[in-house]
Order: sequence, then structure tokens, then C-alpha cells
Amino acid sequence: MGFEEARSEVERLTEQILALQDAYYRQDSLLASDADYDALIRRLQELEEAFPELAGADSPTRMVGFGRGELFSPVEHAARMFSLDNVFSDDEMSEWMTKIRSEHPKAQFLCELKIDGLAINLRYQRGQLVSAATRGDGITGEDVTENAVLVPSIPQALEGSGHPDLVEVRGEVFFTLDAFEGLNQKQLEAGDKVFANPRNAASGSLRQKSEGKSEAKRALVADRLAALSMTVHGMGAWDDPPVESQSGVYGVLESWGLPVSPHVSVLEGEAPVLEYIHRFASTRHELSHEIDGVVVKVDQFDIQSTLGATSRAPRWAIAYKYPPEQVTTRLLDIVVSVGRTGRATPYAVLEPVTVAGSEVERATLHNQDVVRQKGVLIGDTVVIRKAGDVIPEILGPVVDKRTGDEREFVMPESCPECGATLAPSKVGDVDLRCPNQQNCPAQVRGRVEHIGSRGGLDIEGLGEVSAAALTQPLEPSVPPLVTEARLFDLSVEELFPIRVLVRDADTGEPKKDPETGEPIVQAPFRRKRQKSDPVYDPSAQEFPGTEDWVPSKAAYELIDQLTKARSQPLWRFLVSLNIRHVGPVAARALAGEFGSLAAIAQASADDLARVEGVGETIAHSLIEWFQVSWHQDIIDAWRAAGVSFEDAPTALTEGGALSGLTIVVTGSIPGFSRDGAEEAVRAAGGKPTSSVSKNTTLVVAGEGAGSKRAKAEQLGVPIVEADSFTTLLREGPSGLSL
Ligand code: ZN
Repeated sequence: MGFEEARSEVERLTEQILALQDAYYRQDSLLASDADYDALIRRLQELEEAFPELAGADSPTRMVGFGRGELFSPVEHAARMFSLDNVFSDDEMSEWMTKIRSEHPKAQFLCELKIDGLAINLRYQRGQLVSAATRGDGITGEDVTENAVLVPSIPQALEGSGHPDLVEVRGEVFFTLDAFEGLNQKQLEAGDKVFANPRNAASGSLRQKSEGKSEAKRALVADRLAALSMTVHGMGAWDDPPVESQSGVYGVLESWGLPVSPHVSVLEGEAPVLEYIHRFASTRHELSHEIDGVVVKVDQFDIQSTLGATSRAPRWAIAYKYPPEQVTTRLLDIVVSVGRTGRATPYAVLEPVTVAGSEVERATLHNQDVVRQKGVLIGDTVVIRKAGDVIPEILGPVVDKRTGDEREFVMPESCPECGATLAPSKVGDVDLRCPNQQNCPAQVRGRVEHIGSRGGLDIEGLGEVSAAALTQPLEPSVPPLVTEARLFDLSVEELFPIRVLVRDADTGEPKKDPETGEPIVQAPFRRKRQKSDPVYDPSAQEFPGTEDWVPSKAAYELIDQLTKARSQPLWRFLVSLNIRHVGPVAARALAGEFGSLAAIAQASADDLARVEGVGETIAHSLIEWFQVSWHQDIIDAWRAAGVSFEDAPTALTEGGALSGLTIVVTGSIPGFSRDGAEEAVRAAGGKPTSSVSKNTTLVVAGEGAGSKRAKAEQLGVPIVEADSFTTLLREGPSGLSL
């Protein structure tokens, strides 16, 4: 594979992974199975290994887990919280053990169940719980102390005496199956949405905010937290633990009153470890809680520290993930949806069925060829497979169960939303697309939602629902947005009359009132006028609403957020322009290199392609995009509304301690997040880049720095250790006697 090809695949994978993370975080749409997600990460790792210059500092392979703190204040972990690498078969498991035992023949393996919950870091100072935090990105998590103290198995004070000054205990917070059932029962009785699976429920419960809620609601929050369980599975910061092994630590933690799983075993050799894995694979449904695999750790600390860690996971531990579960259900229909790029994707509407702990009612079928290859007919009984808690895959039909009433799926010839004739974008493409890019409601809706997403302008009020309301309202008959050009011209007055059909989050079908059978209609941007509101005054300067209605909080908030979004950095606007192949990685590179949209628009294809992380495919895509007149209309309209499409030069660039220096930061730097370290370099006048070359002035290497440190050594580029980073920022290289 050539560099160019690899680069465009890395870009695509990165964008895909970030989108999945985003969906996961919002918990409103689950787009891929864990297995699929893991496969994407693995593929990206492979490519980054083959082409180290493509491994950006913000690559998802360097991020641990999904979390990005927002709900609660950030807490820095005293020691990094790693995630685990996975294996999926006995062969891979054996290979991992053999490798370790060839170097460390005395290695013993501690086996424990991989509970499907939420990782938590508990910090105890002299035996008192001082903070509880989620994993977050592994370096910084979210503070959930207020909620964690209500979980019965999390002690606020440790039992016994002689506790260390500081110890971090790592555990998993989860619902037992009984507790989960009870929770959903209560949700149903209260008329609230039930949770799809125990993991989402645990995560949701620990992240509840009770502030500002009524007493009754707060009691519900406390009830849910009281139903949670926790099991410890490790330690973080702990100077001089009085034991020499993982199992020894569990012994100490247990003596302090912390819950240790009864299923932990220390085993020697491959056969007993595999036996342990197989035993729980066949009895997993008899346990009181869900598991998705087994975690195997080298027990002895001296071997653990020799093995060390990669940038995201320790080498001395591995997760064996159990294979996805399979069930059968009926394929009720195959319908086609059109996305923001115009791609028409058939997906299966299934008779709801529970698999791997959650209810499933739709699955993507990718394109008409996939439907044909799978050989499924509408009406078939189909086998579906699912790992973890997300959308499943259809494996194929159960042919024996056919009755003769099944019918074949026919790919429609025209776009289900705008009626344009579907066609491949170039000869030989399998995917069919709606060519009406400018005005197809499905595409405009998708683009507007993309603008609001975390990788775009990150506008909280502009999600799936409001994107649909702005582009396809029931009323007014002409939607406020027929393209995204007018986005920043929207006003409260314009939002006010919008009425929308309430749609099912899963199927997109309009919901019907169970009594009247009529579709349910909502006006999201207004509410009934109340006595406490000002009296209706049609002559008021600010839009007053009507005699019966006033604009809702959501309307004011959306307008306010749109106003603030105008000053977002250039790269976010580049992503938000929905230019094909331009995701956050390329957008950041382009913004860093050119500084303004005007400069990018004027650059030649060669100039664009030369930018690190851009390349020819993206360069051509940019050039083509700028040639389309309605794209220019978007830029003009946004500019007229106050978007500058420029990044202000960093104030300290001239004369900073790192002025004129090109610096690569790699590995974890204590006290800095990934972005934070680069930001600090920039603020000191330096230019942070992601790959080491002969043009690199120096490399700052923290724990976990791997290939980049090696490359720097090979090229003779000076290396600054992480603990000298702040001195470097303050005094420049001269302060370090390199
Ligand atoms: Zn269309």
C-alpha cells in the first residue's frame, strides 16, 4: 500500500472512530458493535505502525476509552488509567502467554471476570475517600464523588489502620442483573425510558446530576445509585505497596473493606488459563452480572514493570473478549435511508429481540450488494449477531423457515426523501447516492447535524432533533434552512413557529398518540404563556411571541450557542463545511498551515497536498468543493453573519521561549493533556507537529513514548524528558543544556 492510500484510509478511519465515540458519548445513537469498533482501532494501529508519520498526536489510538469530560469537573488521575488490549481467540491468548513466558518463565497469571460496567478511580488519602472519578481519557476523568459516595460498596473510609498517605483504587461500577431489572421496572412505572443494557444504565446513573432537581427526583437519583455495585480490579498511584503481586494487592484491598470479586484465580501455564476462560464462557449467564470476557494479568509486580506499557495499554494484561451472541428474529422490512453525503443505505427493520442484553430492532445492510450476498428476503427469519451493547449484524436467513410469502428487496431508483434518481458517484461504485446535494432534505439535515457535532462546531442545541426541525418542519411549509447557508441568520422569531412530528429514535417513524391514533406533533421552540411571563406586547422591541405562546428556553439557547459558535477556530469551520474527506485531522493541519479559509481557497493543489496529513485526495476534494457556486454562497452568508474563517495568530508567537522551533510531544506528560501540551508549545511560540523528521528541533518524550523516541534517536534529534517540559516552556532549550 502506498503512502497516499494509507493516508486517506487513516483519515477515513479517524473520522469514523471519532463519530462512533461521539455517538457513544451522547448515548443517543449506537452505530457499531464493540467488535466493529475494535476492528477499526486495530486497522488504524496497523497503518500507523507501517506509516509512523501518519500517527498524529491526537490519533484515537492514543486515547483511552471513550470519555471526554463535560458533565462534571475534570479530575487528573495521580497515575494514568490505562485501557486494555483485546484478544478474541484461544490462539491469540496462547500467543500472548507464550511470549511472556518465553521471557519470564516464572510468570503467573491472575484471571478475573471482565464485568461490563464503568471504570472508576477512587482516591483515598490516609484511608478517607477524597475523590471518585471516571476514566475519561486515562489522564483526566470526570469527578463523580458526589454520586459515588451513595454507592453502597464504595466505602468512604477504609477499614483497619496504617493506610498510605495516598492510594488510588480502580474498580468497575455495575448493575447486577436483578438490580437492572428492578431499575427498568421503576423506569417503566414512572413512564421513563428503559435502559438498553446494564452498562448504559451504570454509566447513566453515575453521571446523573441531582443539582437543581426536585426532592422527589433527587430521591430517585439516590435510589439508582444505591442499587449499583462495585468490584475492585487494581490500583493506581500507591508509593511502596507492602506486597509484590496483583493478588497481594487484592488481599490488602479486601482487608480494607473493599469488594474483591470471588472469581479471581492465580494460575500457572496456558491450559488452566484457557480452562478458566472456557468455564466462564459456558456459565456466564448463571452469574449475577453481565460479563463480556475475562481479564488476564501477569501477577508479579517485578515482571509487570519489566513488561511496561504502550501508549494506551499495559503489556502485562490482556482482555479475552467472548464471541458475539447470536439469535434469530424476523426481518419485517428493508428500508433505505439517505445520509449527509447522499449515500443511500438499506437497513433492516427487525421484530424486536433481545440479544447480548439489549433490544435490537434495526441493523444496517450497507448497500444492495450486501443484501444480495446475505441472501435475505423480506419476511425471512434471520440470524443476527451482536457483541456488547450496540447495533447487530445480520448473518443470513434461516432458509428452512421460509413459507413462500417472502419477497425480494428491490433497491429504489429514486431518493426516498427528494425523489432524485439515485446513481453511483462514479462508474464502478457500489454505493448509490442522491445527486441532489444542495437541497435534498436528508442531506441538508445530515450536514446541519454534522455542523453541530463535537467534531464540528460543537453546538449542544444542534443535534439530530433540532437539525430535523430546522430542515423538515411540519410548519412552516418552507423550512428555515433549505441549505446550511442561513444557519447563522436564524432568529428566535424564526424558530418560534416550527412544529415537528415526533419520531421514534430507532426507526424514524412518526409516533402516534395511542388513544387517537393521530401523529404526535411538537413545537420545540415555544411554550404556553404563563402568568409569570410578561404580558403580551406586540410593540415590544424583542420578539414577544403571541398572546398564547412565548419562545422557549431552547430557542434562546440555540440562538445564543450559534452566536458563540461564530468565533470557533478555523478547523472546526473546515469540518463544518462538509467537504468530502476533510475530517478533524486534515482540518487542523490545513488551519495550522494556512491560517485562513481565503488562503486555503487560493492555494494550489500541490500546496494543499504538501501539508502533512492532507495529501492529494483531500487537496482535490478541496479544489472541487470551492468551485461549486452554492458552496461559495454558504461561505458568503456565514461571513456576512460574522464568521471570520481566520485563526488569530497566537499572542506569544513572537519572542516566546520556543519561538521558531518545531517540537514533537509524545507519550504522556504529567500535568498536561495531549492537546494541552501542544497548546503550551504553541503559546510559547513553538510549532507543535506530530511526526519526527530531520526538521524537528526537539522531541519531548513522556511515559509511553515509543516509535517517536526511537525515530528521534535515529535522526539525532535531541530528546527532552517529560519532567523538564515546564522548564523548556519557560526558558527554551538553552535552559536545559542539551
Ligand atoms: Zn435526495
